[in-house]
Amino acid sequence: MSDVVIVGGGAAGLMAAIFAGRAGARVTVLEVSNACGLKILVSGGGRCNVLPGASDPSDFFTTGSRNVLKRLFRTWPLDDVRTFFEADLAIALKEETASGKLFPASNSAKEVRDRLVGAAQSAGVTLLTRHRVRGIDHLEDGFRLRVRADGEDIELPATRVVLAAGGQSLPKTGSDGSGFALAAATDHALVDRYPALVPLRSPDAELRALTGLAAPVRWRALAGGKTRETRERPLLFTHRGFSGPAALDASHWVVREGATLRVAWAAMDAAAWEFALEAESRKRIDVLLGDFLPNRLVELLLRRANIPGHLRVTQMHPKQRRRLIPLLADFELPTDGDEGYKKAEVTGGGVGLGEVNPSTLESRSSPGLYVCGELFDTIGRMGGYNFLWAWVTGRLAGESAAASLR
Ligand SMILES: Cc1cc2nc3c(=O)[nH]c(=O)nc-3n(C[C@H](O)[C@H](O)[C@H](O)COP(=O)(O)OP(=O)(O)OC[C@H]3O[C@@H](n4cnc5c(N)ncnc54)[C@H](O)[C@@H]3O)c2cc1C
Repeated sequence: MSDVVIVGGGAAGLMAAIFAGRAGARVTVLEVSNACGLKILVSGGGRCNVLPGASDPSDFFTTGSRNVLKRLFRTWPLDDVRTFFEADLAIALKEETASGKLFPASNSAKEVRDRLVGAAQSAGVTLLTRHRVRGIDHLEDGFRLRVRADGEDIELPATRVVLAAGGQSLPKTGSDGSGFALAAATDHALVDRYPALVPLRSPDAELRALTGLAAPVRWRALAGGKTRETRERPLLFTHRGFSGPAALDASHWVVREGATLRVAWAAMDAAAWEFALEAESRKRIDVLLGDFLPNRLVELLLRRANIPGHLRVTQMHPKQRRRLIPLLADFELPTDGDEGYKKAEVTGGGVGLGEVNPSTLESRSSPGLYVCGELFDTIGRMGGYNFLWAWVTGRLAGESAAASLR
């Protein structure tokens, strides 16, 4: 019998396994896929953005308590997580200057996955792949897991269970949402789920025709008459709508809150555009705008402002200028949906933070069961924040489960 059975061998589950194993527990990981950490392998375009260079609770979104978030991050500060990867797992990390993201110097997500698996094995953890957990029964003295393994139904006992089955984005990696069903069946209240960090669809054919173009923007999400968030990030046009860090980061406001997205092109507000026009008033307007934005986008903006590109700034009528400035500084990106879980990087919603003890991540409704990772109603923005969440909560769940046995 295992002391601790971990459901899911992804980012959070492997971290939980390492720390539970190192704390002396007999640990088994049950992973439905052929191998552990398949999502790590595809992360960051195969390079794995392991961590952000800096982090703050405002980089995360939850409908739960922000105090709980802060408390959880204090259990394993970012610098210490980084040291764990560099010193303990011996993965050299490099910071990408422009984005501040941390990647393995080898640019290999496989290195990250393999080192985590190796560390779990060195801590004595048993990793069982092709094991799908279909049910968890809470018994008086522990748990019984109902498992489908290689075409057979088996039952496995456990003293403690760590639920680390991930969300439901990119289901072909194994995280198909069954973790939410397991959480609900063990009496956890779930916050409504939705695809997050997801490309957005647009009904505007002219904007979709800009597919492949990228432009720097300051985006803001407006809901209920208020700006809910604003950030500076690149926006990418796709044949379906919008992607890139700006659209992905803003997507949860659109998908969850029905927010409207507005952008300031080149991240310049109205005053900055006015200043740019004044500073180079003898230039052709298309040439001037082309100094800041891709030409095809400039053509579209001038067409919508009904201004011929060959006009010099000084030749523009005040009315034309009044039409142009809002298009440059406060352009609405029309959206009519998202690209769903197949394209989403993470799942928003899930197990509410209030469902667990924030000091240990032990479930309040099923004592002896611990929750971690993407299953929670917490998402981070692009840039290594979602792995940071998985590492921090995975470690805490694994360590707490092992400590509770003593
Ligand atoms: C394309 C893509 C790229 C990404 N890139 C980055 C990045 O560069 N940086 C970053 O910070 N985040 C990135 N993310 C997000 C990040 O991968 C996740 O937030 C993170 O993997 C969540 O960790 P987790 O352990 O909670 O879930 P997962 O890593 O999804 O692991 C859950 C595991 O549980 C297994 N499982 C599920 N159900 C069962 C069951 N019933 N029985 C047994 N096993 C089960 C799954 O097979 C899976 O292996 C990316 C996501 C995607 C989709």
